[in-house]
Amino acid sequence: MLQTIDWHARAKSVRLPNRPFIDGQYVDSVSNETFPCVYPGDGRLLTQVASCNEADVDKAVRSARNAFNAGVWSRMAPVDRRRIMLRFAELILANREELALLETLNVGKPIANAFNGDVVSAANCIAWYAEAIDKVYGEVAATAHEMTTLVVREPLGVVAAVVPWNYPMSMAAWKLGPALATGNSVVLKPAEQSPFTALKFGELAVEAGLPPGVLNVVPGLGHIAGKALGLHMDVDCVGFTGSTEVGKYFMQYSGQSNIKRIGLELGGKSPQVVLADCDDLDAAAAGVAAGIFANTGQVCNAGSRLIVDEKVRDALFEKIAAQAKSFTPGDPLDATTRMGSLVTEEQMDRVLGYIDAGRAEGATTLIGGSRVRVETGGFYIEPTIFDRVRNDMTIAREEIFGPVLAAITVNGFDEAMEVANDTIYGLAGAVWTGSVKNAHRAAKAIKAGVVWVNCFDRGSMAAPFGGFKQSGFGRDKSLHAMDKYTDLKAMWFAH
Ligand code: NAP
Ligand code: MG
Repeated sequence: MLQTIDWHARAKSVRLPNRPFIDGQYVDSVSNETFPCVYPGDGRLLTQVASCNEADVDKAVRSARNAFNAGVWSRMAPVDRRRIMLRFAELILANREELALLETLNVGKPIANAFNGDVVSAANCIAWYAEAIDKVYGEVAATAHEMTTLVVREPLGVVAAVVPWNYPMSMAAWKLGPALATGNSVVLKPAEQSPFTALKFGELAVEAGLPPGVLNVVPGLGHIAGKALGLHMDVDCVGFTGSTEVGKYFMQYSGQSNIKRIGLELGGKSPQVVLADCDDLDAAAAGVAAGIFANTGQVCNAGSRLIVDEKVRDALFEKIAAQAKSFTPGDPLDATTRMGSLVTEEQMDRVLGYIDAGRAEGATTLIGGSRVRVETGGFYIEPTIFDRVRNDMTIAREEIFGPVLAAITVNGFDEAMEVANDTIYGLAGAVWTGSVKNAHRAAKAIKAGVVWVNCFDRGSMAAPFGGFKQSGFGRDKSLHAMDKYTDLKAMWFAH
């Protein structure tokens, strides 16, 4: 199906949602302001999108609060909420073609990835939390004989979900799934680069039977709409995914307003450690290449630092360079493309700036290092690998969010672990080894919320995802994510 669709033709006729979705329908913005939406695959203007301001955000929060207080969702029978969320997941899949196309137009990722990856994983996530709704129990505490003490979780009320552009649908679903399943109302603010699928989600949720107001979507700019949500006195919680810099703002917004709960999934500089005893360099090379070139390196847990033992470095580099060839940038709307564009011209320039910094600080490019496909008008960078990197160089310390691998050579297990942990981040890490002992030692030593051993970027709704250190706190995915959107209540009944 993917191969038989003329995606370029579809792109010309697809409807581009560009107005806020509040109280169950698309509405005009109060602000009347707009921002441009550009297709990064060729640089052309797609449409103008409403830029929500404080008044728009306030309207969306009021709608969410009214729905919450009315109990139309928060007090609906769990089996009924489950049915509606399952229907929402089905509708996401039923609209797979359109959602995939909207995502590719917004962010320039290959249509095959959007179609086979993003849409499906978002639907799975919503369905997973739907299934959980009537399968999670409260507790009876071991208190005195003449007491019955129930420990229950209650929804917080109005949850704001503020999400990034790299996996717009999945990141939205990771918040919507647990927040809606636990009975909250949600105001979703997509990144300015990727408003389309978020808006379409609002529409599909209502079509599935979600009562109006339970999910509102406000496209807008971070420092206006995002900030307004962060400072709003009637927002109870913010589920945020994005940069560490903006995550810090949300902590401040909370302190300046109503101590709203904040969950932060932030940036990373994840180590890919290949030890001298690695017994499958082919698998390691494939994992390292996909770990930094997939989604054009615009991945929070990208394995952006390769920490390789000197004994295997030359053999490994050769294999990674060969793997990198399959990530040659191509037309995002071509079903065979494996690597698309970067999300914006600004992001491309940022990544090129890091490549310049790498060279200036003395690292050497093993492959790549340039903008490509300039003639298309799009924003493409070829897979780039830096050798001779020291861990104190800019390209080893800062999150580049592009297809740029920094390779650091080390000697032995201890140095590898020391370098791996010498970072402000702690989102993820991986180790490639043939030794059971070193596998376990490394899994314990790496200070990160996720550690992969002899694999990379594996995930499932059944396992939590989130960071240590400045990569944030709170977890997405799994039943643990439901904790973020509920408060614990102890109820004491004297007999
Ligand atoms: P970002 O700039 O931090 O933006 C994230 C969201 O915050 C966007 O909706 C953005 O709106 C909004 N925002 C920006 N400035 C704001 C402000 N002053 N006040 C309130 N909200 C504000 O991140 P991004 O560039 O979209 O995404 C890349 C980052 O996300 C990377 O650092 C990456 O590591 C991280 N990320 C983390 C995970 C994870 O699970 N840990 C997953 C994916 C991405 P605008 O778009 O309008 O600026
Ligand atoms: Mg941004």
